[in-house]
Amino acid sequence: MAKRIGVLALQGDFAAHTTVLRDLGAEVREVRVPADLEGLDGLIIPGGESTTMTLGIEREGLAEPLRAFVQDGGAVLGTCAGMIMLDRAHLGLADWTCRRNAFGRQVRSFEADLTLPGIAGDPVRAVFIRAPWVESHGDGVEVLAEVEGHVVAARQDRMLAVSFHPELTGESRIHAAWLQTI
Ligand code: GLN
Repeated sequence: MAKRIGVLALQGDFAAHTTVLRDLGAEVREVRVPADLEGLDGLIIPGGESTTMTLGIEREGLAEPLRAFVQDGGAVLGTCAGMIMLDRAHLGLADWTCRRNAFGRQVRSFEADLTLPGIAGDPVRAVFIRAPWVESHGDGVEVLAEVEGHVVAARQDRMLAVSFHPELTGESRIHAAWLQTI
């Protein structure tokens, strides 16, 4: 049976994620209100702008339902702003704190080749757009990749987060590996 995956669609580049997920055979639903979370196996929190996304979550009353979704065993993939949304200062689900726009001011965007555990073959071409990094984290957090000594991919329980945009480069291995864990 196809896995049912939600993509938080309040703001940001959610559409690119839905395309990758559909190509991988998932049943995809855009999530805008709490009822949209019902029956999902997993959720992607996309890149975008974390302040705007926070306001949207507040406006729609989504913070508690999102927490309940994860606490009840739902899997989450957070990319870029999604990594920020999961952190201690936002939804408080992951035991990490992000530094926003960490690689520089304004438009510091760059690409890097990353080797990630569980992703076979060529390195992942990672696109960073005003990306955060994980500034500090607790013992329960597994660091999966670093750039210049800064954490850009991490996992805790059923939460996977990357500070780059795997959905923009024709890369589907991270989504595929995440779907396998669900
Ligand atoms: N800089 C954005 C923020 O702080 C995140 C960037 C992104 O998601 N591409 O919310």
